[in-house]
Amino acid sequence: MSKVMAVNAGSSSLKYKLYDMPEEKVICSGMADKIGHDDAKFILKYNGEKIENTLPILDHTKAVALLLEALTKYGVVDSLDEIECVGHRVVQGGKYFSKSAEFDADTEHKIDILTPLDPLHAQAHLLGYRAFRDALPKVPAIAVFDTAFHQTMTEEDYLFPIPYEYSRDFDCRRYGAHGTSHNYLAIKGEEYGAKRIISCHIGSGSSLAAINNGKCVATSMGLTPLGGVMMGTRTGDMDPSVMDYLATCTGKDVHELYDIFNKKSGFLGVSGISNDTRDVEEADLGGNKQAHIASLLFARRVADYIGSYFVRLGGADLIIFSAGIGENSPYYRELILRDVEEALGLSIDYELNKTVRGKEVMISKPDSKVKVAVIPTDEEVMIARDCYKRIKEGKI
Ligand code: AMP
Repeated sequence: MSKVMAVNAGSSSLKYKLYDMPEEKVICSGMADKIGHDDAKFILKYNGEKIENTLPILDHTKAVALLLEALTKYGVVDSLDEIECVGHRVVQGGKYFSKSAEFDADTEHKIDILTPLDPLHAQAHLLGYRAFRDALPKVPAIAVFDTAFHQTMTEEDYLFPIPYEYSRDFDCRRYGAHGTSHNYLAIKGEEYGAKRIISCHIGSGSSLAAINNGKCVATSMGLTPLGGVMMGTRTGDMDPSVMDYLATCTGKDVHELYDIFNKKSGFLGVSGISNDTRDVEEADLGGNKQAHIASLLFARRVADYIGSYFVRLGGADLIIFSAGIGENSPYYRELILRDVEEALGLSIDYELNKTVRGKEVMISKPDSKVKVAVIPTDEEVMIARDCYKRIKEGKI
């Protein structure tokens, strides 16, 4: 048995799960939240108990120190030497990474120069990596990239129709995101005998992927996670001239508008209520017009991608709903499915759909031309699997 740690470091949080591999058993999990603040939280879930402390955690180094101290203090491990590998989630791997890589100085440098493509996460990932490297200098680390799964796309799927030299000289192209999740869902989909899969990872950030024989052929997010379908606070795809037009109308500059497209649009911007679909759904069902149009807009955009990926794949064997909304919201699943059911020959058990939250269930009826399933995603286990694979191959 090997103990491996899966880590997801954000700018103000550090989430972790310690696994026993190859059993894929979660030994403990938790997070440090509000890093940088005096009232930060450290949470450890172990043996059915939740330990939670509020205290100052001013940086990622302190968060990692608290975690490692807690592991021995609460008897999760006898010694930190038991940890054989630390796997870090990294959102943007650019053109450099089509699979996981050893997290060494070269990987660190490449992630650093990719920062303009992921200003929200890249430096936070590096802070998380450096904190573990300094605390556990003998333990190897790997980087697992959200973009890696999408590197199998061909040029006609990933290039933008801009002057070619911009794509060539600035690597300006579609990279996609949520690849680790789509990869997990592709593997789960194969358990149903599906070869052509449309996976819908729809949560606060949302993306769809068209998967053929385990490989991604198309995905909805673009250069950054702003592209694709509408999301909690992000616009998704729009006519690019919206930027220029609104700059003229509002007097705001490109950077201000870009920020609004990222942080104040989507469900939040259209509904004027919340970025969280639980709130929007409640307001929608209570008769709020803006909330209702936000729901319809979201469903239509997801449905449009499903339709286009159905064509892209030459048909589909399985549509998967996953992530926060996909796993937990019968309402949004139904809105989306009603939009595509006729064209795709779907037969959905909507009564069953109403009962499905956070568990794996086939919600299509046996006569449906395309199967439709709700499958909870698991990005952390993919990180743990990559760590274990490298340990077994003796690569680290
Ligand atoms: P994620 O980013 O995958 O963690 O998804 C988080 C989002 O999923 C939340 O912001 C909500 O919009 C949505 N969500 C989570 N739980 C539910 C639920 N029970 N019903 C509806 N939407 C939910």
